[in-house]
Amino acid sequence: MALPKPNLTIAPTAAEPGLAGAAGRRKHALRAGDCLCRHWMRVDAEQRYADVLAGPGHDARVFAVFDGGRGYLGLVEARDAALFPGRIFADLLVRRQPPALAADMALHAVFERLGGADCDYLPVVDGAGGFVGAISMLSGVTALLDQERQLRGEREQLIESLRAELENRRITAAVFDAASEGIVVTDADSRIILVNAAFTRTTGYSEGEVLGQTPGILRSGRHGAEFYDVMWRDLWDQGHWKGEIWNRRKDGKVYPEWLHINAVRDDAGSISYYAGVFSDIMLHEDLRNKLHNLAYYDPLTDLPNRQLFTDRLAQVVAQAQRAGSGFSVLFIDLDGFKDVNDTLGHSAGDRLLVSVAARLRAAVRQNDTVARLGGDEFTVILQESVDESAVVTAASKIFDALGSPFEIDGHDLFVGASIGASRYPDDGVTVEQLLIAADSAMYRAKGEGKGRLGFYSAILHQRATHRVETVSALRSALNQQGLRVHWQPQVNLADGTIGGIEALARWPRPDEEPISPAVFIPIAEQSGLIDALGLWVLETACAEAASLCDVGSGCFPRVAINFSPLQLKPGIERAVIDVVRVSGLDPAALELELTESALATGREGMLEFLRKIGETGIDVAVDDFGTGSSNLATLKTLPVQKVKIDRSFVCDMVSTPNDREIVAAIISMAHALNLKVVAEGVETHEQARILRDLGCDMAQGYLYSRPVPLADLRVLLAAPAHQIGAPTELVAG
Ligand code: C2E
Ligand code: CA
Ligand code: CA
Repeated sequence: MALPKPNLTIAPTAAEPGLAGAAGRRKHALRAGDCLCRHWMRVDAEQRYADVLAGPGHDARVFAVFDGGRGYLGLVEARDAALFPGRIFADLLVRRQPPALAADMALHAVFERLGGADCDYLPVVDGAGGFVGAISMLSGVTALLDQERQLRGEREQLIESLRAELENRRITAAVFDAASEGIVVTDADSRIILVNAAFTRTTGYSEGEVLGQTPGILRSGRHGAEFYDVMWRDLWDQGHWKGEIWNRRKDGKVYPEWLHINAVRDDAGSISYYAGVFSDIMLHEDLRNKLHNLAYYDPLTDLPNRQLFTDRLAQVVAQAQRAGSGFSVLFIDLDGFKDVNDTLGHSAGDRLLVSVAARLRAAVRQNDTVARLGGDEFTVILQESVDESAVVTAASKIFDALGSPFEIDGHDLFVGASIGASRYPDDGVTVEQLLIAADSAMYRAKGEGKGRLGFYSAILHQRATHRVETVSALRSALNQQGLRVHWQPQVNLADGTIGGIEALARWPRPDEEPISPAVFIPIAEQSGLIDALGLWVLETACAEAASLCDVGSGCFPRVAINFSPLQLKPGIERAVIDVVRVSGLDPAALELELTESALATGREGMLEFLRKIGETGIDVAVDDFGTGSSNLATLKTLPVQKVKIDRSFVCDMVSTPNDREIVAAIISMAHALNLKVVAEGVETHEQARILRDLGCDMAQGYLYSRPVPLADLRVLLAAPAHQIGAPTELVAG
């Protein structure tokens, strides 16, 4: 951009008039009138020199003699008068007075005349012939010298002020262009005559594109005419306006700016320029955001830093306090990070931290906060994880996420972690308490070996440790054929024959108490083992059931297999169908049991799954019916064929009339919907009798058989016509 004309926006500099004045005087060569002798005195023709001497001190070198009636008479030099002090001046005048010089006579001509004259002084007259003074060689030279001196002084002053001016301009120009504020100057007609670099940066218009235009090209259309009316009125009345205004950039984007306009008036008071200074508010926002980021985020990993983490934790504490709810804090410390730093260098260490951060973030839920406290220490706020199993689940997701190797600089690095957990409000109610508790839980976990989760509370810690151990034991049982399937018959209440068999997972543990599937299935569900476990049960159960085909005569019992809603993953129906096909079992002999609550949650893909397996002939039974909140009518919309009344109703049915009514209602409604009904947990003949009277189709329970291994099931099935349900008999499993 060309050197701006800053004096357009500022008052004209002092140097300007000086420039003009000096230049004018230099052009004006000295004239007679400029060089008059200062030592002259006006005297009257009748006066004597002696009288003058007697008067107040004088330094006159020449006397201009006047006669009251005739005016100027002539000059008398002091040195002549001194010769005849008693004479009057009229007598001292030389007879032939030299002709007067015009005041505007050029000095060089004056000097010529003085040189040719036989006197030292010549009179000077104005255009009208009036006496203005006397001139001599000396006064001419003095005037010349004076002028010279004055000119030199002025020239020096001028140079000085020019130098200052130049400096001023340079500074102003620099300030003008370096200003982060946009500057636009228009003439009185609002035509842009000057913009700075910030203007161009902000608006996207180059100087060339806007010069001669009005600032109207920036109009966003967001303000009505009234807005601009007020602006103009303020400018005229008060000389300035400021406020927020929405303008439009060249690229069409609308942005807010803070604008300050000043009307610049000339000496006569009329407006000569408008100078506008504006700042892009967005830019300030950006800057604020940047500062905010610096203050609250870890620059390496982009995770919230300690400051933001404690802020958020304080918020979550306040929320939980209000809601009377709980949450957990995890403290994660990487194992072996120092080794990476030491062997591969800090930049490799940094890259590892960035990858770890990304995996951590992906491993937790969206509204859980992951932060980096510094070094290899990370923290997580688990907003909704109140009970310890949820914490264990979250921690195992983190362990899993960190489990696969990190590829850094061509190395596959394995990084473990120790995790400590504290819970609000049990382990602390302030930010500090919770952090300290999580930190010490982490140390406890580290102390017990790497890759562990520790709880602050001792009981929880024990339980969690146990749980973690259970998960890994279950995993190896699954991998090492340590699980079994047992079978429990379902008996037709009408004739006591075995109409179905349910496969139930078993985990026999040598030298230890058996763990019920009611315990290990949820653990499998939470730890993600359920996929493998579910498929294993399906394969094993189908294979075992298929091997029963040779047993006995009559109709083959239906094979029921439990199916967890957590097994629902894309492609699961294909896997199920394939397993059944490979086993050789007729799909029409198979039914999957899904709990009422699993069906009721409306899990994504559930309906699709039921439809697809239904097409192959596999039936669906609603397990644990009555424990959920669904009703039979809603089940009607699902492709299900059977309802299993939960054991709790069967159990209380004898003593509690209410429960009996519920059972009766379920049976009649199910029949109305064309669904078969199985009663679970039948332990007594009394229960069996009532159920038969209510029209229940089948019963399952210890009354007939406990879940038994395949070999025992064979024996049961080998009974004449599978008849194990004779009212007096109880077969123990
Ligand atoms: P469930 O599907 O309701 O299975 C019936 C449970 O009731 C079984 O417990 C069975 O042993 C028990 N039971 C049967 N008759 C009686 C009785 O007369 N009295 C009493 N008190 N209990 C009786 P189990 O085998 O401990 O299984 C517990 C739960 O674990 C099952 O409940 C089922 O939800 C789940 N489960 C078991 N195996 C599997 C499996 O392979 N996959 C899935 N997803 N879940 C399974
Ligand atoms: Ca079941
Ligand atoms: Ca059940």
